[in-house]
Amino acid sequence: MSRGLEAVLPGSTIGIFGGGQLGRMLALVAKRMGYRVEVFSPEPDSPAAGVVDAEHVAAYTDLGAVSAFAERADVVTLEFENIPVTALEAAAIYAPVRPGWRALYTAQHRLREKSFLAKQGLPTPPFRPIRRTEELELALRELGTPAVLKTAGFGYDGKGQRVVKTLAEAEAAFEDLGDECILEAFIAFERELSLIGARGMDGTYVHLAVSENRHVQHILDVSFAPAAVPTAIAERAAQLTREIMETLDIVGVLCVEFFLTSDGQLLVNEMAPRPHNSGHLSIEACDVSQFELQLRAVCGLPLTTPVQRPAATANLLGDLWARGEPGWAAALTQNEVTLHLYGKAEARPGRKMGHLTALAGTPAEAAERVLAARRKIMGNA
Ligand code: AMP
Repeated sequence: MSRGLEAVLPGSTIGIFGGGQLGRMLALVAKRMGYRVEVFSPEPDSPAAGVVDAEHVAAYTDLGAVSAFAERADVVTLEFENIPVTALEAAAIYAPVRPGWRALYTAQHRLREKSFLAKQGLPTPPFRPIRRTEELELALRELGTPAVLKTAGFGYDGKGQRVVKTLAEAEAAFEDLGDECILEAFIAFERELSLIGARGMDGTYVHLAVSENRHVQHILDVSFAPAAVPTAIAERAAQLTREIMETLDIVGVLCVEFFLTSDGQLLVNEMAPRPHNSGHLSIEACDVSQFELQLRAVCGLPLTTPVQRPAATANLLGDLWARGEPGWAAALTQNEVTLHLYGKAEARPGRKMGHLTALAGTPAEAAERVLAARRKIMGNA
């Protein structure tokens, strides 16, 4: 167990809350750099389990198990933002936890997240808290229609949200979604962008290039970077991310997702203090990936601005398995296309099973290349 501000060096043990694909990719980088890795996961045989030194399987509310996990770690980090703050506090008795509870507490609840951004004067879609059905009418009148009703807590990949056009639709959606919601103005954005920043213990801030993200049914489908946006927009995205990281004193990485409107406004949609699907391309495109940035930041190692090549990532969802095991070999016939599978046993529709990344001369060519590779896997090329 090490304390305080000294660097956590190779040979030490990294504890990761969460055993999903992000934890797996973080662990792979940590293993390459000579660290021991232990994960804490509520489910056995998590995607990370196969590549780490030990897996602690228990609920996040089992503070005895959390303590036993943290006691063995020199630093604890996370790959999932919906960890109860009590678990972070229990872990922090035994090892530094980076990022700390403030980042998680803010990012794991949409209403707290948007309220924080608004209080800081950072641009977001207009929103209203909805705790009672009676609040919907005024909120809809003020925000206009359509609007988007979202659960306040524990939402991701578009789960727990509904576009509503009338008061009756909003009331029905509120009935379904639960007792604390946020109603947001519907933003007819031109593009969705994201940026991953990294911040060290000494306040050093570096970032990846802005990604452009295309969603299908609210789930990320394709990301490519650097996004073709004016320099001023890219700089503003980096500056907004920096401001959030500094205000919340985040040590680690933060992904901020933005809407870019046709009149050039950049609005923060949401943020996650962990690596992000839109940064997976950094594994092949950068000398230092988003996972290595996280590792270096939480270990107190130097952060350098990544050197980045044009690249694109396409997700491989469980839907691809509808007609049996996809034809992986077909994706491997081309240079500069890389296959990642996360080792998940069950392929459910909408479940992120893996991704492909392609490098090319431009982000648009990389996007074409990665989509062609995915079509080949599906046998539709
Ligand atoms: P979220 O889970 O909040 O990130 O939302 C998932 C996706 O839903 C976003 O990436 C957008 O494509 C869409 N979306 C969410 N909020 C809004 C909004 N206020 N206006 C328009 N589209 C939205």
